[in-house]
Amino acid sequence: MIQHTIRKHSLARRRLLLGFAWFSGVLLAGLRPALAAATLTKEMVTYKLESEGTQSCKDCIHFLKSRAPEKEDQCAVIQGGISPNGHCVVWAPRKPVEGC
Ligand code: SF4
Repeated sequence: MIQHTIRKHSLARRRLLLGFAWFSGVLLAGLRPALAAATLTKEMVTYKLESEGTQSCKDCIHFLKSRAPEKEDQCAVIQGGISPNGHCVVWAPRKPVEGC
């Protein structure tokens, strides 16, 4: 019972921290793209190289397309190069979803 409660609180705290990090990324990317700093690791956001259904990095608001073909694409939220076909838990649509 105590283990379950501790695990439940840990999960809630993790979600809160990820939500704050995501919101900060959106805020920085929206206000000053040049100042946006990728602060999360791929493990923290469960990044993977495959898309999740129709959701992929190239359609995410945080996706930063590389201008140089020899360089990897980047993300405003996570550290390191990413694939345009990847996905993580803080994916957010580039355009608002209609019908919501
Ligand atoms: S899905 Fe995740 S890794 Fe991909 S661009 Fe969006 S925030 Fe970055």
